[in-house]
Amino acid sequence: MPLLDQLIAAIRSARIEVIDLTARLEPSTPIIRLPAPFGNTVPFSMQEISHYDERGPAWYWNNFTTGEHTGTHFDAPVHWITGRDGQDVSAVSPGSLVAPAVVLDFSAEASADPDFLLEPEHIKKWESAHGSLPEGGWLLYRTGWDARSGSQADFLNANETGPHTPGVSVECARWLAEESPVMGLGVETVGTDAGAAHSFNPPFPCHAALLGAGKYGLTQLQNLASLPATGAVLVAGPLPIVSGSGSPARVLALVER
Ligand code: MN
Repeated sequence: MPLLDQLIAAIRSARIEVIDLTARLEPSTPIIRLPAPFGNTVPFSMQEISHYDERGPAWYWNNFTTGEHTGTHFDAPVHWITGRDGQDVSAVSPGSLVAPAVVLDFSAEASADPDFLLEPEHIKKWESAHGSLPEGGWLLYRTGWDARSGSQADFLNANETGPHTPGVSVECARWLAEESPVMGLGVETVGTDAGAAHSFNPPFPCHAALLGAGKYGLTQLQNLASLPATGAVLVAGPLPIVSGSGSPARVLALVER
């Protein structure tokens, strides 16, 4: 049987499960909030054009308004100043949007400490048990944060000192960008950097290092708990917005059962 027929047969017989890692898009979908004087993104919203009425008797359709970085979304290199000469989201090659993924589960650590930071030693310890990170693939960093995505306040977890959400250390961001074989980092939080990363030196090290190295980010993923540590294939579909810095994306995982 041709390979693609085998793939479809495996999906239909549930030997390969398709798992949706995407957050639903609605006005309450959490969005990042930056302090003054920085600009902010708008919440997702819809504007009805017609609904089987005098504006369009047989059809229903909407316009929608969203930021590029709303809900489950893809960060392209040009999102950060370090990647300003790199790819915009329309330039990402389709072949790289289908790629292997591994899941590193630090949900217990993030539950105990919302400011938990992933370090290179954590990844090296994981590799000693599961093998190397995938060449040209995704490192998916599970923190359990998707359970908070129903509430903007719980998701951003901010107090008077700013947001407190898990991320990666400065050294780990550098290692992922320069030494690891992955093409990108996927997270469950509102961005790839820790909530407190505004105060790191340098600030927002994950954005700066990974996007500066031409790598990618995927954020606000859900259902990583349903994925195996290794062996999943990720299909990430950002819209090819010309000169866009990112895009909401439907992200699916294929998992062999
Ligand atoms: Mn983003």
